[in-house]
Amino acid sequence: MKRFRWTTLLLSMSLLLPSAPEIAQADANLHIYRNESGQIHTITGYLGRFQGDSESARALHALQLVQDTYRFTDPNRQFSYENSHLDEYGLRHQRLHQRLNNIPIFGRDVLLHEMDDALVGVSGFCEPLTPNSDMPTVKAEEAIDAAQEAVQNPTPSEDLSADLVYYPTGDQANLAYLVRVNWLGDEPGRWTVLVDALDGSILAKINNIETSDKSVQTTMRSGIYYLIDESRPMFEQFGSSIRTYTFQIGTQSQAQLTDLDNIWDSPEQSAAVDAHLHAGRIYDYYLQHFKRNSFDGLGSPMRSAVQFGHNYANAFWDGAQVIYGDGDDQIPTPLSAALDICAHEWTHAVIDTSAGLLYTGQSGALAESFADALASVIEGRDWTLGEDLFPVGSKQTALRSLAEPAAYGQPEHMRDYRTVEEDNGGVHLNAGIPNRAFYNFATRIHSREQAGQVWYLALRDYLTPDADFSAARAATEQACAVLYGPNSQIAHDLATAWLSVGVE
Ligand SMILES: [Zn+2]
Repeated sequence: MKRFRWTTLLLSMSLLLPSAPEIAQADANLHIYRNESGQIHTITGYLGRFQGDSESARALHALQLVQDTYRFTDPNRQFSYENSHLDEYGLRHQRLHQRLNNIPIFGRDVLLHEMDDALVGVSGFCEPLTPNSDMPTVKAEEAIDAAQEAVQNPTPSEDLSADLVYYPTGDQANLAYLVRVNWLGDEPGRWTVLVDALDGSILAKINNIETSDKSVQTTMRSGIYYLIDESRPMFEQFGSSIRTYTFQIGTQSQAQLTDLDNIWDSPEQSAAVDAHLHAGRIYDYYLQHFKRNSFDGLGSPMRSAVQFGHNYANAFWDGAQVIYGDGDDQIPTPLSAALDICAHEWTHAVIDTSAGLLYTGQSGALAESFADALASVIEGRDWTLGEDLFPVGSKQTALRSLAEPAAYGQPEHMRDYRTVEEDNGGVHLNAGIPNRAFYNFATRIHSREQAGQVWYLALRDYLTPDADFSAARAATEQACAVLYGPNSQIAHDLATAWLSVGVE
């Protein structure tokens, strides 16, 4: 994986993507990518040079280079600088967040890609929006009440906060309060609710918890062994560990798991041992193959909790830990028994701390799909998800398949895309389309692992929170160009993989 100079990269990129429209008078290597609605989500090509003293000044200056294309008027007032990171291929990625009237716009980040002081790409939707107001008429406390009512929060909490944002619909920006409501219980919730700041109505509510379907490293203290793994590099560098707890079939309090002889063989321990071992394998995979130390790349502790609730046939990342139920009649196995399910949930943690894909509509389906794709890469065995949860002879044999989404009720081509209300706008449903694109790509190039590298890099450096399928295609193509060369056979195979599921 040699370091490319942007000129080589861009020259070949233009050959790779003949269908992309070009700016007539500009550099022939410049490409502007739009989705079906005509919105720009990606620009690649030489766009000019960075200037300025600080990181943020340079980023804001660079935005002026694409100001006319995106039609924004004053980058200094419309964007706030978030962070930047230099990748292993010599590209620096600067993240900015869009604002209007000094209020952040929900889900709207823009990424600037820099090489050798040149702006060589922009990712993100950032065309101008028209605000409906800049003054809320609803009080924050009223918005919190409305949000709690909207999600039927069974344990109203007094320490919720409501932050003003703009929520985009079409080219309008709606002034809204963003309220986050989280709880554990029989039906746990992790909601993001957007309440109209002018009339108190609910503009959107997103449940970030999965909604639809479905040698042990320990530590001894005072003669008792705990499911605490301090053997990984994260411990030496950051003092953090992999820890596994149990809810003991309840939903509120967690206990540490202990054993006196360090032979973890009782039936109650098996779910916890599985969660613990799988977290360790997932940690190792992310570190060795993606150089990502723990889910956030910062070596943070990886905490799991098993035996959540009674007959709870689900698993989810709650923002701080991965929680597993013991299953039910349909899924008769504790969910931590399946490595791919564990890897799917931990990849949600990776997504939350990288692209931050919003768990609704197409960006939510992308979150589901990237979690499935990387889970299949980490497991490295088959194209189905959750097959280990079903004993031999069961009627159902898996939860989903990347090879045959339709066999599990998912669309696998854009012509079958389903617009639905439930499941956050069909995030588990429409994930079948990008899942099939990933399968097409990995099988065409005969390497699940290389395909995984492209998907991971797209997730880390090229996707923004409100990305759609079209933007995901462009993001994976940019990642592929950096990794394997823009005019490589792999890059052509990737384009074919997306085209064959109808994503332009
Ligand atoms: Zn998921």
